[in-house]
Amino acid sequence: MDREQKAALVRRQKYFVFGDVFVFAAALLLIAALTAFAFLAPREEGNSFTVWYDGRAVFTASLAEDAVYVFTVGSGSVVRYEEGADHEAYNIIEVADGKVRVREADCRSQDCVHRGAADWGEIVCLPHSMRIEINGEEAQPPVDY
Ligand SMILES: [Zn+2]
Repeated sequence: MDREQKAALVRRQKYFVFGDVFVFAAALLLIAALTAFAFLAPREEGNSFTVWYDGRAVFTASLAEDAVYVFTVGSGSVVRYEEGADHEAYNIIEVADGKVRVREADCRSQDCVHRGAADWGEIVCLPHSMRIEINGEEAQPPVDY
């Protein structure tokens, strides 16, 4: 092997190393993209929410408008909440930054409060037979339970 051949061989090896790095990086990118898709795809962000009480849709509002509502057990009414107002058997529902949460409630379990703010899925308050369902772009009318 003369000098020229050796130099050519080294160049070729370098070329292959660069090729490997490129393939490796592409594979990593693909994995990252698939992982991101798997995480993001099922979480279709909602644009509105519906309050269900005893199997009836009692209220629907946009997630785009920040607001505070109060749900009352019995009547099943949902109205704008006035700060400082006293309620019994209630869930205070707050919409902020495109998410909805139960800010406060006097239910036994407090599960609805602990669920935190959500922009997909649903928030359930079993003791009050109430649930908040977040409606996505392609959401179908929910089935009663
Ligand atoms: Zn609750």
